[in-house]
Order: sequence, then C-alpha cells, then structure tokens
Amino acid sequence: MSLHLEIASCVRAKSKFSNCTKCVDACPDSITLVDNLPSFANNTGVEAAACVGVCPTEAFSLSDFSTTEFFFTFLDSKVRLISPKLNVPCLSVLSVEHLIALALACDDEITLDMSSYDEESILYEQIDARIEEANFVLSSFSTKKLITNVEHTMPMQEETQEDEVTSRRSFLGNASLKGVVKHKMTFDEAVEADELKTFALDVETIAKIKEKELPDKRKILFTILKQAKIPNAFEVLAEEDVSFTSQKFVDDSCTNCQICYRICPTGALSSDAKFSIINFDSMLCVKCRLCHEVCEPEAIQLQPGYEVKELFEPTQRTLAKFNIKRCNECGNNFTYTGGEQACPRCLVEEEEAMFLHSNAKRMKVEKEEKVAQEAAEKENEA
Ligand code: SF4
Ligand code: SF4
Ligand code: SF4
Repeated sequence: MSLHLEIASCVRAKSKFSNCTKCVDACPDSITLVDNLPSFANNTGVEAAACVGVCPTEAFSLSDFSTTEFFFTFLDSKVRLISPKLNVPCLSVLSVEHLIALALACDDEITLDMSSYDEESILYEQIDARIEEANFVLSSFSTKKLITNVEHTMPMQEETQEDEVTSRRSFLGNASLKGVVKHKMTFDEAVEADELKTFALDVETIAKIKEKELPDKRKILFTILKQAKIPNAFEVLAEEDVSFTSQKFVDDSCTNCQICYRICPTGALSSDAKFSIINFDSMLCVKCRLCHEVCEPEAIQLQPGYEVKELFEPTQRTLAKFNIKRCNECGNNFTYTGGEQACPRCLVEEEEAMFLHSNAKRMKVEKEEKVAQEAAEKENEA
C-alpha cells in the first residue's frame, strides 16, 4: 500500500499564497515542502496515513484502500468496530467528516480500536483529537457518539445477509450517491524507489487545478445529514471547534478583486456573471483557508460562531454586493465605488500616460534650456 498525491487538488498548487501545512503537520517525518508543494519519499506507505484523513481537499489517498469504499463496506457489514487489525490500515485515514457520518448512519454504537497506538505518540493525539471533535459536533444535534477502546478484542465475524445489504443501500439513497464512490489514484508512479517524490505543475495539472471539486467525504456527510433526524433547536459552536467547515463574512475593505471566489477549490464562494456579488455556501466549504490567504485587505473573515443549522438547512448567503459599471475607456465592467468613469486598470494606464507625457515635456524643456545655455556660453566666449 502506498501514498498518492493528486497535486492538482492541493491548495498549495492553486496559489503560492496558500499556507496549508496540514499534511506536513500530520506526518512531519514523511512529508516536506519542496518548491512550496508537499513531497514525500517514494516508499512512503501507510505509516503516513494521517495526511489522508487531514487534507481538506482529499489530495492524498492510499493505493488499495479507499475511505469512500470503506464507508459503504462498513455500513453493509454487521461489525461495529473500526480497527487497524481488522478493516483499516490506520484510524488516521478517517477524517472528522467520515467519523460523524459513520456514527450517524449506524444504529449501533461504533468502537474505534486505539490499542495499536502508543498513547504518548503524535499519531494517537491526532486520532484522539479527531474523535473528540466528531463527538463534540455530534453532541450538538444527536445522542449518537463514537467510543474508543485501548484493549483490543476481535469481534465475531458475521456473514452479511443479502437483504441487509439491500436495505443499507436504500437507506443511503443510491440516487444521490451516484459518482461518490470513485478512485482518485491517478498520479504517475514512475519514480525510482526511495527517491523523493516531488511534483511539478504541467499543463494538464494546471487545467485540473481550475476545476472546482467537492471532496467525497463532504458528499458522504451531506447525504447522511439529509437523512438524519432534525434537532428541535440548533446550537452555535465556536469557530475553532469545527475544523472541517466554516461560516464567513466580508467587511467593507473588500475591493471585489474577484480572487477569492475564482480560486475557491470547491465552489463554496461564487459570484454572478457580472461579478457583482460574493455568495457563500457553508456546506461546500472545507476550511482550507485559501480565500483568507489570497485576500490582500483581509476583508474575508471567519464568523466566530458556527451555526449547526447550516448542516441541516444549507443556505447560500450573500456576503457582499457591488455596484458594477461599464468603463468609459475600455468598455469592461468594473466595481464602481462612486464618481469614477473608468475602471481601475484604465485609471492606472491614464496615470502612467500622464506621467510619461509630463516627463517628456520636462525633458524637452530641459533640453531647450541646455541648448540656450550652450549658445549663450559660446556667445560669451566670442
Ligand atoms: S491541501 Fe492537502 S496536500 Fe495540500 S498542503 Fe494542504 S493538506 Fe497538504
Ligand atoms: S474578499 Fe478579498 S479576495 Fe475576495 S473579492 Fe474581496 S478583496 Fe478580493
Ligand atoms: S470558502 Fe475559503 S476556506 Fe472554504 S473552501 Fe473556499 S477557499 Fe477554502
């Protein structure tokens, strides 16, 4: 089993301003940044799987193990234990979203087997933190929770009955899940063993970078939430307690430079044909922070509270609206702030032209003065 990186899905490939280090922080011994992109040794295997579960855009994956396929296989089985000794290469391949969706989709309590991990290790801490976050979010709208054990016991293997498989599938609603189960292992592996696997942005990758894509883990969570019992009241959680999504606002310093909604990898931020609006769908946001990192005036910000209602009743909110006007010079649309007749680009060009013109005028005057001075000096000498 080996590690794969779909570089086009990494937010660092989308912008040099991205500061995402989630994979490096999760697997510091295996993953490093080379030329601003994550890189790892070619023989890096499942020991580095924490990056798979932590990457907001699912850029990392493992050969021979798909978290999406595991999700459905697990639901189809009667076993309610998730263990590296039984059905996953490492618990860290599962994200907080997977854990919440698994807990919600199963009638019985799920146990996560932590017996393989050293309680003092970073990996243990990371897995524990994800389970804790999943349980915390679950507790805001459900009585379901995940439990952990450190003493390993193998469950009784039970045959899955055909009718149970069918009932699970109908519970999940196949129609909305079409296309969810798919592999993403497309990266070229023609690299010598032990060589550091680095990534370059070729033409094909650049074309893929521009595509907006929602990770499978979000499609799974969204589908499961649609079938979950809606709570009577909705809580508001602290922004820092929810790592996988966010709510935002845009303040008055926004210049409508268009970067954030053009670069958002999932389409959570969007605009209309005239670029007169910034819309935001929290359910599509994977909290990769790219929009914040590219925003020069820091106009787009995280809302301090995350409204749980958004999980059950996703809405598209308008974060900003702009007056759009046609430029008198070039005819292109621009964001009108009051009084200006031309777009910022034409204004800059006009300023540059005026500067060049006054510069040329000054040089002409200086030249004429110099000629006159030389003529006067010659006259004096004569
Ligand atoms: S987007 Fe994923 S692969 Fe890219 S730096 Fe962040 S965690 Fe790593
Ligand atoms: S929020 Fe920031 S990045 Fe987005 S359009 Fe406004 S200024 Fe540009
Ligand atoms: S809205 Fe911002 S944080 Fe959310 S997915 Fe888009 S770029 Fe990432």
